[in-house]
Amino acid sequence: MCGIVGYLGKNRNALDTIISGLEALEYRGYDSAGIAYVYKNQIQIKKKAGRISNLKEILNFSETPFIGIGHTRWATHGEPNETNAHPHHSGKFTIVHNGIIENYIDLKNMLEKKGVSFSSETDTEVACALLNDIYKTEKDILKTLVKAQDLLIGSYAFGILCEDDLNTIYAMRKSSPLIVATKDNDKFIASDVPAILSFTNEYYLLDDFDIAILKEDTLSFYHPKKEFFQKEKLLFEGSKESSQKDGYEHFMLKEIHEQPKVIKDTIHFYFDGTKESLFANLPDLEKYQDIHIVACGSAYHTGLVAKSLIEELADIPVTCEIASEYRYKKVFYHSNTLVIVISQSGETADTLASLRKAKEDSIDTLAIVNVIGSSIAREADKVLYIKAGCEIAVATTKAYSAQVALLSLLALKLAIIHKNISEEEFTMIAKQIEELPALLEKLINQEKYLNIAKKIYTRDDIFYLGRKLDYAISMEGALKLKEISYINSVSYPAGELKHGTISLVENSTPVIGILTDNTMREKTISNLKETAARGAYIVAISNEEIKEVDELILIPTVHPLFQPLLAIIPLQLIAYEIAKLRGCDIDKPRNLAKSVTVE
Ligand code: GLU
Repeated sequence: MCGIVGYLGKNRNALDTIISGLEALEYRGYDSAGIAYVYKNQIQIKKKAGRISNLKEILNFSETPFIGIGHTRWATHGEPNETNAHPHHSGKFTIVHNGIIENYIDLKNMLEKKGVSFSSETDTEVACALLNDIYKTEKDILKTLVKAQDLLIGSYAFGILCEDDLNTIYAMRKSSPLIVATKDNDKFIASDVPAILSFTNEYYLLDDFDIAILKEDTLSFYHPKKEFFQKEKLLFEGSKESSQKDGYEHFMLKEIHEQPKVIKDTIHFYFDGTKESLFANLPDLEKYQDIHIVACGSAYHTGLVAKSLIEELADIPVTCEIASEYRYKKVFYHSNTLVIVISQSGETADTLASLRKAKEDSIDTLAIVNVIGSSIAREADKVLYIKAGCEIAVATTKAYSAQVALLSLLALKLAIIHKNISEEEFTMIAKQIEELPALLEKLINQEKYLNIAKKIYTRDDIFYLGRKLDYAISMEGALKLKEISYINSVSYPAGELKHGTISLVENSTPVIGILTDNTMREKTISNLKETAARGAYIVAISNEEIKEVDELILIPTVHPLFQPLLAIIPLQLIAYEIAKLRGCDIDKPRNLAKSVTVE
């Protein structure tokens, strides 16, 4: 989850370089930050609870180290305080870590019996002490790391410094992403590509159990089974400016505004308006009669949208499951089951484990991801990339929409295969797709959202209601609000509220209804009225006029396949405006991190 950045080179100041890399990664974890660097022939460690800005205050940038490792933490073991912040140090070793050492209690007991004492509550300090312990007998850093791989259970990306070799950064990983990058004689390690984009776009992707050894003149890769080996150098093809705010107050707002383009780019990558392009560019899905969609968070909500679309338009049963459940539950596969996993980062630990579960049972897998070359992308049988670019705000907007757009294309293809889309309907859909960006643009630029936000931002509870596809959309609306405004917002199938939850509705309780499904509109209106009768303040997002609501946000009508792309916009912007009025840290909400690489 965390940000790791390391630098070794004579062309830059390691402190500046590492801090600017960490700042580019701060969305990955931000409850404390720290750095270890070599100065006056000694490893110096500086760390602080809170944001990187706190760490910067205690650094002396006139020191000019040439080597260092830095970290922004997303705490898993122990409070986010200064003691638990990384880097951790034990004996001759200093490390930064992303992941969880699952057997850290056993290892800690073993080390304590040998007289090792610990100052933090973290699993990371235990891993560091383990390295130091192994090194006492092995007396060789590489051998120590290989041996540690056998003893550590769990996930890790490590940046490692050792007192006996102050000119080298060691890095190794298992189940947590880590890259190594180079530029002339400069060398970097990072847990994600944006950290290095100010310096270079050439990088190497470490695989599980790879060990990278970075020295001033050499870069080598070692794997216990292959020994020293050559690794393929990759080129990041995205642009760096995607990690700037471009004049927007927040990354989230910028990313909301990028949606017309992102949706257009994603759709056009696979679809040029002809059926032939759909059949050529999307995988052959004809034989599947049963689909499992597995994901977490907002990606799970895109799965729910896809479930509704595929079942309604293509007559294929779809189960949509939360990955942290799916990976451990009894799952019933058929010979013609397809498992679709969805993850923005392509590193989501639970989703990756679910993918592996399906593969172990020899089930076909398809991944929908944003980050090229990520673990899920590499391990799935087939991968489809969304074209969202780099998403910085922790609460997703444009990646959600791009996932929905791509899944809608899959649903369209399946509907064609199952002969549920007539020629006229297809022609109309192709035309509407071309019009989508302009419709989205107009919807994003409305002023209504702030006025609605002003009426409800002080409330403690907000309900979101919808039926079928509209319910799937409402779930994402409620999550967006929870994530960034900390208001307890819950979505319900509109007909379900009266079976219990309506007891929570009182005078002025905001209820946001999503009404884009013509077959369900009247039913949902009745449910909204039931809440209005108990004093609720009703906001309706509908593609048709509705009277008797307090606020109506009218969205254009398009084919149901693409209606969710429009309906989500007001929900994102209402959440954004509410969070802003409440003074929340919109791009970095408390307790969250962008890429959830722990289970
Ligand atoms: N498990 C480690 C800790 O709690 C690493 C957390 C992270 O990935 O930021 O310190």
